Amino acid sequence: MSDELFYIEDGDGGFAIPCQLKIADDCVQVGEFCESKEDARHWAEEECWIFSGEWYLCVECNQQIMLNISKLQTKK
Ligand SMILES: [Zn+2]
Repeated sequence: MSDELFYIEDGDGGFAIPCQLKIADDCVQVGEFCESKEDARHWAEEECWIFSGEWYLCVECNQQIMLNISKLQTKK
């Protein structure tokens, strides 16, 4: 497991963590820009983004995954 997450830089010294899936219609796409990578990560955790071990996904996409899984299960 790597400590290096994928960050987006705003070109002004700010960092944000992007949602890695972006499958939900209301996906926020990118977290808030913060002064440091640590703050960006903290923001994601405050927002209850799901950390997979390598990347984050937003709450909306996580819900979308849950929906997709339950749809698959009802198909069977
Ligand atoms: Zn998302």
